[in-house]
Amino acid sequence: MSDDTNDLRREPSDILAELRALRERDAPTHGGRVLSYVYDPGLAELDELAADAARLVQPVNGLDPTTFTSVAALESRVVGFARDALGGNGDVVGSVTSGGTESCLLAVKTARDAWVAAGGAGQPRLVAPVTVHAAFHKAAHYLGLVLDLVPVDEATGRPRVDEFARRLGADVPLVVVSAPSYPFATLDPIAEVAALAADAGVAVHVDACIGGFALAFWPDPLPPWDLRVPGVTSLSADLHKYGYAPKGVSVLLMRGRDRQRRQYFATTRWPGYPVVNPTMTGSKPAGPLAAAWAIIEALGVEGFRRLTARAAHATGALVAAVGRIEGLRVVGDPVGPLLAVASDERMPPGRRVDPHHWADAATAAGWRLQLQPGLRQADGDPLPRTAHLTVTPVTDAVLDELVPALVRAADEVRGIPPVDGAAVLAALTTGDGGPAGGALSGDVGELSADTAAGLLRVFGLLDGDAGSAGGALPARLAPVLALMETLPPEIAERLLVELLARVVEPG
Ligand SMILES: *Cc1c(COP(=O)(O)O)cnc(C)c1O
Repeated sequence: MSDDTNDLRREPSDILAELRALRERDAPTHGGRVLSYVYDPGLAELDELAADAARLVQPVNGLDPTTFTSVAALESRVVGFARDALGGNGDVVGSVTSGGTESCLLAVKTARDAWVAAGGAGQPRLVAPVTVHAAFHKAAHYLGLVLDLVPVDEATGRPRVDEFARRLGADVPLVVVSAPSYPFATLDPIAEVAALAADAGVAVHVDACIGGFALAFWPDPLPPWDLRVPGVTSLSADLHKYGYAPKGVSVLLMRGRDRQRRQYFATTRWPGYPVVNPTMTGSKPAGPLAAAWAIIEALGVEGFRRLTARAAHATGALVAAVGRIEGLRVVGDPVGPLLAVASDERMPPGRRVDPHHWADAATAAGWRLQLQPGLRQADGDPLPRTAHLTVTPVTDAVLDELVPALVRAADEVRGIPPVDGAAVLAALTTGDGGPAGGALSGDVGELSADTAAGLLRVFGLLDGDAGSAGGALPARLAPVLALMETLPPEIAERLLVELLARVVEPG
């Protein structure tokens, strides 16, 4: 490099200024105002440490830990910490993955391959409660399993153990239970299900993606849920959630080396370098791994306990506060630092609070809750629409603002009936002929990208021509969720695909 030629087209400071301006339009990642997606420990120095650690390994390729030996050292230490925290013994091995979804996909792939090796034939079935994370819908879809969903009690969010017993069989490579579930924070009956599955020779995955690194340091006693439970064969826990690491890092632990080796892919049958990948990616960053390791080193078990205690305290306070809000109820008995809030159906309609109106009112006041749709289960029982709150250590520091804001938001919308999705749809498609009615009565297979985009425009979810750069959603999401609940899932899913594809289309 010579200093008299400048290879750069633009000044770095100018480029970064542009990035900062874009970032300013993002939802805030710190300060506790967004109650999903982000996990703020409330410790600025920890964020700095994570960024410095990631920067140090930035040029490294995590693909080959024999060339970049730092990667092997870091991964072994992170897996070791996770194994100890999550109840594993010397028989438990693991990998660092790019996130919860990859951990879940690999857990299913490994179980499927072990099942095939043991003589399994025909189409395999994946058994899990209806509250299981969508990552397992994706796994079944990608890996060719039928997803057999166990219904849950609409009041408690818990599945019945005998429903698992009925479903176990020679075609089941894996049962998945959650610790806790994302939608309702249910701690599934893990020990009971694992005992049944072990008797039937079926593997059990505990999805502790969200809760793992919080439950491991939870201040109150919990029923057994981790690798100490006999019959649990694998467990996933995300470091980019309650491990406070930047996005892109999760751990998948597995009991038994022989089982775990089926997770790997290796080939020597091409003219390039011998390939061996423990996970789905080839070349991969070491940054999230290094950041996670640095955070683990900085916090230690005691640090995790202190942060978890803050999140646990804040969760308890929020559960109590929501319990005092007329017209709302907390779903079931949440375990871990998250909760779902539904309308209190014991109240007369005029005193109920619709959780989606509530979430929209909270958003208008600067607090972002996550809207979750109502759902009819396979057995016909409905699950309520809810608002989801992920609680982090920093939430504890803003309770004095958050709780009054939640109370005011409920006061603003109490008695307002839930959005009727069918009515919204009818209003949008009246007099048809019009674009919406025509497309919706047609065959979904025929819904072209342009027709789908047209529908999104009719629904007010996409503006202008091709890419609506930036792609911000409307201020009120209740009508959008109502529409999603009402449309046939194939159409709703197709529209979501179109929405996300259009927001990244070059203008
Ligand atoms: C977040 C989550 C996942 C998926 O993890 P990603 O990191 O978003 O890919 C899986 N299961 C549960 C319970 C989760 O909360």
